[in-house]
Amino acid sequence: MDGKGAIKLFYNGSIYTKFDKKSPVESIVVKGDRITFYGTSEESMKRYATIAEQIINLEEKVVFPGFVDSHLHLDDLGSSLTYLDLRGTDSIVELKERLRSYRSRNPGARVIIGMGWDQESFSEGRWPERSDLDGIVNDVPVFLERFCEHAGVVNSKMLDRLESVSFPEKVLPRSRDGRPNGIVKEEAASYFKKVAHDLIGNEVGNLSVASNYLLSLGITSIGFVSCGTESVEYLANEASRIGIRVRAYMRQEEAGGIEEMRMRIGENSYLKINGIKLFADGALGAATAALREPYEDGKDNRGMLIMDSGSLEREFEKYDGRNVQFAMHAIGDRGIDAVIEAVSSFGRDRLVEPRIEHCTVLREDHINRLKELRIGVSTQPAFVIDDWWAVNRLGKERSRLSYPLATLQKEQLKVGLSTDCPVEPPNPWFTVDAAVNRGEREKREILKYSGEERVNILTALYLYTTGSASLLMDSDVGSLEVGSFADFIILDSDPFELQDVRKIRVQETYVGGVSRFRAKK
Ligand SMILES: [Zn+2]
Repeated sequence: MDGKGAIKLFYNGSIYTKFDKKSPVESIVVKGDRITFYGTSEESMKRYATIAEQIINLEEKVVFPGFVDSHLHLDDLGSSLTYLDLRGTDSIVELKERLRSYRSRNPGARVIIGMGWDQESFSEGRWPERSDLDGIVNDVPVFLERFCEHAGVVNSKMLDRLESVSFPEKVLPRSRDGRPNGIVKEEAASYFKKVAHDLIGNEVGNLSVASNYLLSLGITSIGFVSCGTESVEYLANEASRIGIRVRAYMRQEEAGGIEEMRMRIGENSYLKINGIKLFADGALGAATAALREPYEDGKDNRGMLIMDSGSLEREFEKYDGRNVQFAMHAIGDRGIDAVIEAVSSFGRDRLVEPRIEHCTVLREDHINRLKELRIGVSTQPAFVIDDWWAVNRLGKERSRLSYPLATLQKEQLKVGLSTDCPVEPPNPWFTVDAAVNRGEREKREILKYSGEERVNILTALYLYTTGSASLLMDSDVGSLEVGSFADFIILDSDPFELQDVRKIRVQETYVGGVSRFRAKK
């Protein structure tokens, strides 16, 4: 038997092959990278035990298909995991504490880059200096950038890298002993920033850090939104090695050579360039999402369209016939109008599975239009909890159909879930919890007006697997039916029996029948 078609038999588990109903099976059999059989342990033993290369006892554990996050930013996640986040630090003591904890979590780091501090918020009323950092980290260089990106502080190990360059006192101040005190400004800050980034290596390397993190959370397929060409080129080699399935949506300004790029990278089941991300409007947080009626808390402000229906259509025209799927950011109802108008005027049948990202402030009349035009929706249940100010901004009436989930599901629209990570944490159980509880625990006001938009856990899981997979145009993932990819996760507890699903941990993640993550005991 060659390795490609090797048979692995998993038995004695509680395996959910799909979430359309709650009916687990005991056993799955994997041939190569796909599911070839599921059923009782007895049956699979009878048929496959003698030819199986591996027989694995699941010890009655619960097994799910891997989660599919239909919209996240892999590059930004990589940066946020790699860099020390110092935003919100209110003292030098706290800055040191965060540095200490980052160091212990990253014992192998060759350099530490942090960002986001502001001495104006420090209770000590002074800038941090080299001596503050040296007491915490003295074996590798440290560069902590001020939030303005025009200044920073470095430790002694980093100052050693100054070599023959000299900077004037005003950008590299010195302490009484004549040595720089560690504060760096303007050109000196840029110098050390470059040294730090050269040491950390290629930024795209952060994509593997991020991918491995997602696998550890049980996410096996992702829609990588606002992807750049550099990332695609990196993932062309790395995605299959890491074992994560990436469907890329290119930034509009980097999408010009999409067909040539597809040819060059040689798409496979781990990496495909699905299409292009477009922005119809802004965001609710900044009150720039385009609304038909003014913001409740913003007098005459109705937000702004970034692309109206005409500009969207021109973009459709440009890529007509080139097999490009458009993922269109639209949060306000006027933004959603723009997408609907563009799709309907250009002709739905000339488009490849158009999808709306966020689709937050829905109106009653949108539902049928989205359905008729078969426009998919990628929604982020965790926003309901994080956007605690939403009712203030939208008013009660508009809150009712905002962040809808049950309605979209009931009307059988094509819906997938996502986290927009790192905007929301990528842990799927937080999203499942938000979809099911809708901010009840956090006492979110929106629940009062839109309580009926809660869904049950089975629905949330269905949307997070099969639903998201359909947005990514990938029918081979999201379920463990015969012929599907063997992308599945083994859980440490049974989600259907838990009060708080946020406590669930993934024990092992398989992608294409290969173990890609295993929790430390
Ligand atoms: Zn996003």
